[in-house]
Amino acid sequence: MERRLLVATGNPGKVLELAELLRDTPYTLVSLRDLGLPTEIDEPADTFEGNAVIKAEAYARMSGLLTIADDSGLEVDALDGAPGVHSRRFAGEDASDDDRTALVLQRLGDTPWERRTARYRCVLALAAPGEPTVTCEGDCSGIIEYGPRGDGGFGYDPVFFLPEYGKTVAELSLEEKNQVSHRARAARKAAALLIEWDNRQP
Ligand code: IMP
Repeated sequence: MERRLLVATGNPGKVLELAELLRDTPYTLVSLRDLGLPTEIDEPADTFEGNAVIKAEAYARMSGLLTIADDSGLEVDALDGAPGVHSRRFAGEDASDDDRTALVLQRLGDTPWERRTARYRCVLALAAPGEPTVTCEGDCSGIIEYGPRGDGGFGYDPVFFLPEYGKTVAELSLEEKNQVSHRARAARKAAALLIEWDNRQP
């Protein structure tokens, strides 16, 4: 098989992080845009894993390439795990990252610090035509801040506080985020599988 890997996400933040995280694999990364493929497809499952598999398999079929897809989101304990698998559409179809973040803050109100615990979760699915699909998971625990800080990252990063850094994820460099994030943890496992996969190819 060609040594090209389709990174099947239309989210520019995820593309940036995955490009760095998968840099040392034996694959040349290509994007949906490079192949002129649609950047949005339905995500009907009610789990991260289900949606990651649906996306990876659909894009592997469309492209004929080994494909990696990411489904991820934020689970806030005091909101019973919301926004969860609905993280991207939490504040409606056309809402911005700022709108979604504001809604999480509004729902939490003045919930005390010790009850503002949350985690990011990421499932990466690897699919190729005629091969069984595999998944890798990662998570990252933190606290939802009382207000946004920082302008790095994307999504809920300005309110996701990491006690070990004393900063929100949006205040970290890309390199720092890629050491500790849910996506980094899943991508390290995916990178190992990609190297194994490559070694099995003729
Ligand atoms: P998906 O495209 O359905 O996987 O949507 C994932 C959504 O979860 C994103 O649009 C963000 O709102 C949120 N999310 C996932 N990963 C991150 C992250 O690393 N930082 C901040 N928000 C994230």
